[in-house]
Order: sequence, then structure tokens, then C-alpha cells
Amino acid sequence: MSLANLRTHYTADVEPEKVDNGQKITLAGWVHEVRDLGGICFVVLRDREGKAQVTLVKKKIDKDLFNAARRLVRESVITVTGNVKFEEKAPNGYELLPEEINILNVAGSPLPMDTTGKVDAELDTRLDSRFIDLRRAETTAVFKIRHEVLQAIREYFVKHKFLETATPKVVATATEGGTALFPITYFDREAFLNQSPQLFKQILMSGGFDRVFEIGPIFRAEEHDTRRHLNEATSIDVEVSFADHFDVMEILENLVAYAYTQVIENCKSSLEVLGVELNIPKTPFLKLTYNEVIEIINARSEEKMHWGDDLGTLGEHTVGDYVYETTGESHYFIIDWPTEIKPFYAMPYEDRPEFSKSFDMMHRTMELSSGAQRIHIPSLLKSRIESQGMDPDGFEFYLKAFEYGMPPHAGWGMGCERFVMTMLGTDNIRDTVLFPRDRRRLSP
Ligand code: ATP
Ligand code: MN
Repeated sequence: MSLANLRTHYTADVEPEKVDNGQKITLAGWVHEVRDLGGICFVVLRDREGKAQVTLVKKKIDKDLFNAARRLVRESVITVTGNVKFEEKAPNGYELLPEEINILNVAGSPLPMDTTGKVDAELDTRLDSRFIDLRRAETTAVFKIRHEVLQAIREYFVKHKFLETATPKVVATATEGGTALFPITYFDREAFLNQSPQLFKQILMSGGFDRVFEIGPIFRAEEHDTRRHLNEATSIDVEVSFADHFDVMEILENLVAYAYTQVIENCKSSLEVLGVELNIPKTPFLKLTYNEVIEIINARSEEKMHWGDDLGTLGEHTVGDYVYETTGESHYFIIDWPTEIKPFYAMPYEDRPEFSKSFDMMHRTMELSSGAQRIHIPSLLKSRIESQGMDPDGFEFYLKAFEYGMPPHAGWGMGCERFVMTMLGTDNIRDTVLFPRDRRRLSP
């Protein structure tokens, strides 16, 4: 028998509509728990989709099988072949009366961490033994939801005629100045890990691709140790030709609402495991101008904000709470930022160039996305690069694409992990990445 045929069902697929009472099936998974009560022994088998109880009654069952079951080591890999008995009182509405238990691999003990949820492990312990942490239902649920989010986002883009693209992660120059870059050795030259697909997705606009998206890694050598920063994150990036910042804000809010809708629809059991109840964010999202945000913060917070400052964490919370209290919604935009604190490629308003056609999309507690209409006029772009203290020569490969027919365009980038984090109310961004990279962690 091929290994792929070992299992006939996942634990969660054993339901009266799909399986007959008494039907012989085979489950494959891990030994979650063994409860030996003397005359009766319960083995709980766990797979990706859930758990099933295997029941062995000493008097009714082969002695060797009974003894093998009670000696099973937790977290070992087994298959169990037996007959389904629907039983309302059993954990998932059924138990399995085994004919055969096969041990495929025995787990060592003690385990590096508990998988039953009885002992709370620290995040660091969990990440050190991620392979076993992933076996916990709560952890699995987060990654099933992350999968659904990415699935929904792809579906949305494809439906709206976006081309999926892949731009290089090894690059010669910085996107926005040199500070947050990881240098690497590229043959005999220095290169960098890209911090954003920004410059490349803009070049694609000159290439006539019109609407593109990319879901890929970004690398930031920021030294913070916060609950919402990673050094390797997943960015969902969009660029659209013949569009302004309002057009791409509309795409963004609709995409967010669609992802929530799909998660609510398709991730019921994972949401239940996490105890999360979701509401679809109402569109359009509230738009506050940067100037209005200053007023809100200065009226409501101890920490004063001046024109030209970026929002601090406290400021983000103050405005987020204000929006939530007044509208009942968690998502909103901050628009019309000072040109000087946004990247050089943000388009200034023609009639008031100290403000730019830029926006951040916020969740109550943090920034989720930044975007803007971009400058498509080469002379203006060059002078903006210079006025931010950078040398246009380093951007030649990028600027060239503006000299021969660049359409007006706009776009944004949103962190996938922050999106999942705010959706689920996770307290640390590291919970939403399989193998997070941060200041201290480079393995596993
Ligand atoms: P922040 O100020 O919150 O550090 P940023 O303004 O530097 O973020 P952008 O360059 O605007 O980030 O990147 C767009 C989006 O990518 C952010 O809104 C965020 O969702 C995500 N992102 C950026 N940097 C990180 C990071 N270090 N870790 C996780 N997500 C990130
Ligand atoms: Mn930003």
C-alpha cells in the first residue's frame, strides 16, 4: 500500500452524512493523549483537522492490541484502523473501535513543550520548538487563517485583472535610502536584500502592465524589538496605472473587506478554536487628514504632535480609539501627509506641494499599509530624490523607465503579518509567521 493511501479520512471528516455507522476507516496522526483507566483505555489521535477518540475495552479486545495502546508514547506517529461508532457523548460525536494500531515513529520524551494546552509556554520556547508548537490547535488555526487570507487576496486580484509579478529580492540599491538594508555578498560585489518592491513595480507601470500585485518577502534591518516589527516580513504590494491615491484606497478597503468575508465564511472552526468573532469592516473606511489627526491627538493625548512629526505609538492608539468610539470601526485612512515625511516618490499636490497624495491605512492599534499616487514626471522625481539627500545616479535603472512614457500611477504595500495579527487580535506579530526573523532569532 502506498503511504498516500494509509489514511482514509481526516478526523474532522467523519460525520454521519459522509461515513456509515460501523464503517471501517483508517486515521493517521499523532498520539495526543493516552488515558488508561484499567478496564478501558482511550487514545486520542490528532491530525491537522482535529482529534478523534479511539476506545479500547479490555474485555472485548485482543490483549496485545490493548497493551500496545496503553503503552503508546505521546506525540508518536500512528495509524489506527477500526470501526466508526457514532456516539453523541464522544468528543467529536464518534469514537473509533480499533482493529489495528500501527506505530510509524516513536516520539522521544520528555517533549520539548506541552501540546495539550494544559501548560502555557512562552513564545520563545514555542518558537524554539516550532515543529511541535505547530501541532497545537491554536497555532494551526492561525496558519489556516493566514492561508485563507492570502488565498482570498489572490482571488480578489485575479478577479480584478491584476497580474501577479515577482521582482528581485537581491538588489544593488536602496529603495528609500540606505539605513534599513541587509548587505550581502554577491560574487565579488556588495548587494542588498530588498526592503520593498517599490521601484520595480513602478518600472512595471512603464512596461505597460497596468495593474500588478506581488506577495513576497521584504527585508528590513531595523533594530527594533517590538511586537509589530519583523526583519523579514511578507508584503502584499499593488501598483495601478492611470489611477490616483483615492482609486487605490478603494481597492485596498475592498480587498480588506473581502478577506474578512472569506475568513468568516471558510474558517469557522479555526476562528472557534481561537475564540475570535469577526465582523466585516464597513466600506468606505473613514478618511482623516493628517491635519485632523494632529488636532485629535493634541486634544486627547498627553503626547503633543507637531506638523511634520510622524505618528508615535501613543498617537496611533489615540486616533484609533477615537475612530472606534465614534464609528465603531477599526480601520481608517490617514491622508494628505506632509511631503517631507513621505518617501521621495509620493506625488505632491499641485496647488499645495507641502502636502502629498499619500495615505496610511490604519487599524486601531497600528499601521497596516502605506500608499500614494506616485510622481511620474522625471524632472520632479529627480529633484525629490535630491531634496531627500540622495544621489539620483544611484537610481539610474529606475529613472530611465520614466523618460520614455511613464503613465500616472498609484499603489500601496500592506504587511501580511500585521493584517493577520490585527484580524485575530494576536498580541505578537511573531505568532503569525512560521519561522520569524528578528534581531535575536535566525533559527529555526
Ligand atoms: P512602521 O512605521 O510601522 O514601522 P513603515 O511605515 O516603516 O512601518 P512601510 O515602509 O510603509 O512601513 O511598509 C508598508 C507596510 O509593510 C507597513 O504598513 C507594514 O504593514 C508592513 N511592514 C513594514 N515594515 C515591517 C516590519 N518591519 N515588520 C512587519 N511589517 C512591516
Ligand atoms: Mn508606512
